[in-house]
Amino acid sequence: MSGPAQMSFADIEPAGYAAPVVPQVEVRRSARRRRTVSAYRDGERIVVLLPARMSKADEHRWVEQMVQRVVAREQKLPRPARSDAALAKRAGELVDTYLDGRRYPSSIRWVSTMRTRWASCTPSDGTIRMSVRLASMPPWVLDYVLVHELAHLRVAGHDERFWALVNRYPRCERARGYLDGVSAAAHLPIAPDLEDDMSDDDCAAAADQRPANGSSSSVA
Ligand SMILES: [Zn+2]
Repeated sequence: MSGPAQMSFADIEPAGYAAPVVPQVEVRRSARRRRTVSAYRDGERIVVLLPARMSKADEHRWVEQMVQRVVAREQKLPRPARSDAALAKRAGELVDTYLDGRRYPSSIRWVSTMRTRWASCTPSDGTIRMSVRLASMPPWVLDYVLVHELAHLRVAGHDERFWALVNRYPRCERARGYLDGVSAAAHLPIAPDLEDDMSDDDCAAAADQRPANGSSSSVA
């Protein structure tokens, strides 16, 4: 029979829930990890990262606590802002307004797995991912990041041609300052000005399996 992935959220979720009530949980142990525990959502699953030497009893306790924490964090986000449909609609409006109505994303969605980027774009297949951290920021900041990623659908790198497109958006400077401020205040390992946003692979894999690539780090 069909699993949770086949169910429609609209039919089963109580008001205010942003995620399936019983998420799938994947526990990963890492020898490099000594005392820190962290968790994040990866699509349908919640991934919990534990030190290799943690006891089974502690594992049980920590997994329960970390899953609750991820779900609680998601439920605090305003629901309309978190919808992928709203994101796609806004992206379309921005392409029409600033980017000559050329090249809409093939897919655009919120992701909670990115720890070192605000967003990422894969121009080859036209997909864009936006960090849920942006959902609670002012709309003009989200718009800047959207315009930036949408411009990458036409120009892959960060060259002059690219910036000429992005700078059509009037509040670029202000939005960049806002993002840098948030990043600095929260000690997030995010490069200024979205310079690290080009992606050819899944960002969850990039964050978790290739920690040597860039400055991905767990929360200690
Ligand atoms: Zn970029």
